Amino acid sequence: MNHNADVNKHQPAVGIDLGTTYSVVAYLDSTGRPATILNGAGELLTPSAVLFDEGDIVVGKEAAKASVVAPDAYADCFKRDMGGIRFRRNVRGIEVPPEVLSAFILERLKQDAERRLGPVRQVVITVPAFFDETRRRATQDAGRLAGLEVLDIINEPTAAALAYGFQHGFFADSSAGHNAGPMRVLVHDLGGGTFDVTILEINGTQFRALATDGDVQLGGKDFDERLVDYLAEKFREAHGVDPRSDPQDAAQLWLDAQQLKHTLSERSKANVVCFHAGIRLRLDVTREQFEDLTRDLLERTETTTSLVVKEAGLDWSKIDRVLLVGGSSRMPMVAEMLARVTGKQPDRSASPDEAVAHGAALYAGMLMQQAGDSAVSKCQLINVNSHSLGVVGLDGKTKTRVNVVLIPKNSPLPSRAVRTFQTARPDQRSVKVSVVEGESHRPEECIPLGECVVRDLEPGLPKGTAIQVEYSYASNGRISVSARIPQSRQSAHVELQRGGSHTLENLETWRARLSGREPSSGRGFSPSDSVALVDPKDRGSVMRRLDALYTKIGKAVANVALPKSLSRSQQAAQEAAASLNSARTILKEAEIRKQSAAGGAESVHVSSQLAQAKTHVEQANTQAEFAFLVLGRDCGSAGVKLAGLEPILKEIAELKKGIE
Ligand code: ADP
Ligand code: MG
Repeated sequence: MNHNADVNKHQPAVGIDLGTTYSVVAYLDSTGRPATILNGAGELLTPSAVLFDEGDIVVGKEAAKASVVAPDAYADCFKRDMGGIRFRRNVRGIEVPPEVLSAFILERLKQDAERRLGPVRQVVITVPAFFDETRRRATQDAGRLAGLEVLDIINEPTAAALAYGFQHGFFADSSAGHNAGPMRVLVHDLGGGTFDVTILEINGTQFRALATDGDVQLGGKDFDERLVDYLAEKFREAHGVDPRSDPQDAAQLWLDAQQLKHTLSERSKANVVCFHAGIRLRLDVTREQFEDLTRDLLERTETTTSLVVKEAGLDWSKIDRVLLVGGSSRMPMVAEMLARVTGKQPDRSASPDEAVAHGAALYAGMLMQQAGDSAVSKCQLINVNSHSLGVVGLDGKTKTRVNVVLIPKNSPLPSRAVRTFQTARPDQRSVKVSVVEGESHRPEECIPLGECVVRDLEPGLPKGTAIQVEYSYASNGRISVSARIPQSRQSAHVELQRGGSHTLENLETWRARLSGREPSSGRGFSPSDSVALVDPKDRGSVMRRLDALYTKIGKAVANVALPKSLSRSQQAAQEAAASLNSARTILKEAEIRKQSAAGGAESVHVSSQLAQAKTHVEQANTQAEFAFLVLGRDCGSAGVKLAGLEPILKEIAELKKGIE
């Protein structure tokens, strides 16, 4: 029984599609059907855009419009940055984390829903299936900042399939539609900033994901960019000046290019008038030209799609339907490509814009047990993990650290794995299991999720004593790891839970700062800014604050002489910082290559290198922050005292007193 049932009676089930370009909020009406809630402007879609306008924080269409006149006070497409601690947007000189920008969007959607439904607190939010743990956590953080209780997050393709199943009456009763046995559906979601593809098997009310893949750096915006570059080049050829050189003209050009792209979905030719430096130039573009300019982007979706079919162990003849969602699927070339490779006509019966939010509302209904006796309440969702989970081990031969994958990518959840490792030295007194997410063998290229330490092992254990590591990944994304030394019966356990991954100040503080009511430090976010916001009664907020303080210590001492007992964590921090630096250099180089790439095959290659480089920087960043945190904590336990750190150590001591 759901313990929330009492509270839920008063609030209808609400689902939010927090999109890169557009967000949508939906609810289940009194008959249990999903319906989209119109925003304040009377529209179904709210652009995921924020404008900071002299004390006002404007969200949605009005913000997007103003991108032209005030590009430096405007932010969009920040979903792509989710979970990257350092990927903050500079808005009016203040660095704003993507979670905060997303929280402003969620807050607006909450208000829109409340106008229609009364107070709304509990919601389901969707994420691309391809989001990793860090990005999922960041999404939950954004919800919390917006004053929402996130019942769960659900993968966008699963949500779309739920809505599709509902719409086609698969839940209505067992005689409807699906009695021919399981149906395999490929959900192809090409949105504004992300691309997601998932194969699901629908068997009555059971939705089982078979495989999932995607590209968090590919979407409609990349198609826009090609048009922007093409138009700007034409302008330059004709008049010797580049409209991209002026921020306002560039922003206008982006809007015009997007409009042009939309028109080209309906018509085979369209034109646009570009302005710059007092010059006006009309340019014609045909659909064919547009398709040529973006062929490599489409090919990237094709490759990923074919790969996911393989990963599911299937071939196209085993896929019954191809479901098109996402605004960019309106480009005729998408359906044409899919028809060509699959040999099937893609199904466009789900509303490309609303299906995901509708599915989220249905899922919220299931969680809140509001779907009554209908088959929806009996629905069962079975997910797969989109990234491998492993632990860092030591390779006996090469003596290097390696990522040992315990739960491979695309394993059905919940999933469990046990593996036996060995102690590395005689008389080893503690064992640390570092938990990582990623496909690479090299731990530095994976994302650290946490660690689990078995301490105070009995003395004298021989080298090679067995350590049993058990890893489990629940359907709700909760990861738990335990390490056991069977010989000494000692064990340790950690639960890695989403949410609260790092310190974030509340939305009011950000609002005040961004609207100029509170003086900003100019540097933007800094851990010490949030002192007053730690709620001593909230253990989570204290722990986050402690993490931030330890990270600060770690950074401060990474390159100073420390006691020998700290040399391992210090070395790890130095290595992580060095990897981050080199990842940044590679990214810079990729950006330069991108600017000079000739187009065609070369440019596909360069774009994918660039996307990879961005992901690496993000990962290296998370890794470095984590290494600093560990170093800081170790300094804390070792009682290291260094000049300049007293205020931090004092704060730590006080915070610790409060939670003991
Ligand atoms: P997200 O889920 O990433 O927010 P959406 O699924 O809402 O994105 O899709 C938004 C994208 O779809 C934008 O890039 C937009 O330009 C594109 N789009 C919307 N309508 C059309 C159309 N008629 N033709 C081409 N692209 C479109
Ligand atoms: Mg979407």
